Amino acid sequence: MNFAFDDETEDMREAVERFARRELGGAPPRDGVPDREEFRRRWQLAGKQGLVGSVVPERYGGSGLDAVAAAAVMEAFGYGCPDTGFAFSVAAHLFAALVPVVEFGTEEQKRRWLPALCSGERIAAHAITEPEAGSDTLGLRTRAVRDGDHYVLEGVKAFTTNAPVADVFVVQAATAPGGGFFGLTAFVVEAGTPGLTVGPPYEKVGLRGSPTADVRLDGCVVPATAVLGAEGAGAGVFAGSMKWERTCLFAAYLGAMRRVLESTVAYAGRREQFGVPIGDFQAVSHRVVDMTLAVESARLVLYKAAWQLARGREDQVAPALAKLAVSEAAVRVGLDAVQLHGALGVLGGEAETLLRDALPARIFSGTNEIQRNNVARALGLGGSRRGAGRR
Ligand SMILES: Cc1cc2nc3c(=O)[nH]c(=O)nc-3n(C[C@H](O)[C@H](O)[C@H](O)COP(=O)(O)OP(=O)(O)OC[C@H]3O[C@@H](n4cnc5c(N)ncnc54)[C@H](O)[C@@H]3O)c2cc1C
Repeated sequence: MNFAFDDETEDMREAVERFARRELGGAPPRDGVPDREEFRRRWQLAGKQGLVGSVVPERYGGSGLDAVAAAAVMEAFGYGCPDTGFAFSVAAHLFAALVPVVEFGTEEQKRRWLPALCSGERIAAHAITEPEAGSDTLGLRTRAVRDGDHYVLEGVKAFTTNAPVADVFVVQAATAPGGGFFGLTAFVVEAGTPGLTVGPPYEKVGLRGSPTADVRLDGCVVPATAVLGAEGAGAGVFAGSMKWERTCLFAAYLGAMRRVLESTVAYAGRREQFGVPIGDFQAVSHRVVDMTLAVESARLVLYKAAWQLARGREDQVAPALAKLAVSEAAVRVGLDAVQLHGALGVLGGEAETLLRDALPARIFSGTNEIQRNNVARALGLGGSRRGAGRR
């Protein structure tokens, strides 16, 4: 076993950390939603740095990183950039929208879409969730009906990350309603296609640097060449991208946790009460040790999943465990960091931001309950119960 990155990955990791600190150093918006122009400006910078297309093969404009290197880069991104929402938006674009094109696109689709999505010129979003279909993705109601050489899409998508700024959408729709795993089809749909409209950005508790909105499809006509993979392959396209998302996207949270842990240790060393630094009290130092243990444990689980993914091992369990470990550690570390800052902790510093950003992490990419169902099923438990839930 080797716990060190190779030299190339280590250099890249350091460069990304420096870049993120220097260029993406601003705090996330405290209220409301990110400013569109500023968001795009930062996106283009991240594109120039190779971050928005990191796992896309070089021949399509990406950096061709494997999952371990991609996780290392995302961790550095999350460490250097205090706006975890922005890192989340980049990761959602990359792992939920570009990965499907890489894994399932035709040569023509890859050449058409990927270069501008890797350079930072264009932004992608992935839309599967609907108001009535969250965990139960196979029950989604958006329909795609074939009519000659095109499809007509009809339905509403909810919680689409990047929708307010996206140029391209990967949309999941039912081509065979009630057809289970083979009932869904993924489409690449360009923003501006008649019939596709985006709602106002949501105001969320956390990840405020990431714009989110509904997407409506009202008689939206797309050519049959917009299908990713094949008709009926949508659930497979989705499952492939979730392995990447549950692993590499969550690495950004490892970086954010490490950053907050370091500033909390520094605070515990300088804040004095009863004539001594609060870090001298065992109740404080032990809490810091438990935070460290949570981060380090989650990190090991995540990099094991990345290592397996890099070796092409077909495994849904390791990414599910990585998602569980990191998101639950993030909530815990956020809560503990707020507590250790006393009243200052609720005044809007990094600790409070981590806690707010951590709350949605237990929900997106398939909720933690659904991940537990997935792991239980792999262990031979709960698979036959109706509603066990797979995502
Ligand atoms: C910040 C953020 C960004 C997001 N980005 C995107 C995006 O880019 N694209 C996209 O398509 N979606 C996105 N989502 C949506 C996300 O994937 C869904 O919110 C998630 O899958 C859960 O669906 P739901 O919210 O409808 O909850 P529900 O499915 O209604 O679940 C509600 C509760 O019931 C539990 N539950 C449901 N079924 C079961 C079961 N069988 N067993 C045990 N418990 C169960 C859930 O775990 C949860 O606690 C995003 C969400 C958030 C918060």
